[in-house]
Amino acid sequence: MAKERTVAGLRCGQVLEHLSDYLDGDLDDATRTQIEAHLRGCDWCERFGAEFAGTIVALRKELVPVSLPQDVTVRLMQRLNMPLDKE
Ligand SMILES: [Zn+2]
Repeated sequence: MAKERTVAGLRCGQVLEHLSDYLDGDLDDATRTQIEAHLRGCDWCERFGAEFAGTIVALRKELVPVSLPQDVTVRLMQRLNMPLDKE
């Protein structure tokens, strides 16, 4: 596991925390811009974020009639954050 980096003023963990909001378009412009800058400068997040985004989108397609992606998202985030916390 690559060590967590700080790119564009955000740590990888922070990017992951914001990722579901980012996908929802719930972030303010400044934060969204920072995340996009991080994704461009961090190959790990770019790869991982794309995978994560694909998972969320796929889950939401399955779960669209039931609105509980938040719950699923939180659990995913917790799992995804675990390796980072061990650093
Ligand atoms: Zn990163």
